[in-house]
Amino acid sequence: MKIIAVGRNYIDHAKELNNPVPEKPVIFLKPDTAVLKDNKDFYYPEFSKDVHYEVEVIIRICNEGKHVSKKFAHKYYDSIGLGIDFTARDVQSELKSKGLPWELAKAFDHSAVVSNLLPLDQFQDLNNLNFSLNKNGTSVQVGNTKDMIFDIESLIVYVSQYITLRKGDLIFTGTPAGVGPIVIGDKLEGFIEDQAMFSCQIK
Ligand code: MG
Repeated sequence: MKIIAVGRNYIDHAKELNNPVPEKPVIFLKPDTAVLKDNKDFYYPEFSKDVHYEVEVIIRICNEGKHVSKKFAHKYYDSIGLGIDFTARDVQSELKSKGLPWELAKAFDHSAVVSNLLPLDQFQDLNNLNFSLNKNGTSVQVGNTKDMIFDIESLIVYVSQYITLRKGDLIFTGTPAGVGPIVIGDKLEGFIEDQAMFSCQIK
């Protein structure tokens, strides 16, 4: 499986990092070695001094898809979850300043927290879902999927023009404003509506 992630998909987050609001989705990949599941601990990597959390709604792909049309995009995902796109912001800033790819800042081991994935029918409207992240019991990020610049089905259409979607792939749909650093000892907890989705201890 692979993780396809979307950058700058919420206007308020693009602005907080002084990035332009994109006209097309900003796409990057994380390999399967990035996945951190089952509420496992995250170990702070040695190569960074500024790892940030980014809470994101995740969808799981359920059919192989190439050149998916908007009309059929809903047939290509069957479940939804929540995760963290851990980002080594210092590494990313250096790469960005040189115009280099982001992989080392975004695709490192365990950089993708993935919650349990829930069937879509547990939620009334996927395009109006509240989600949030608590750090040490205090709310640090609050978002709603209605504020995505490119919604779930638009992302499936766009990505599948370039990259074949396969059953089991995950799409990280972007983070709202409020990203920030973690330190060893922090505890992160993610929620969709009032439902606890994951917790992650930083070690
Ligand atoms: Mg992100």
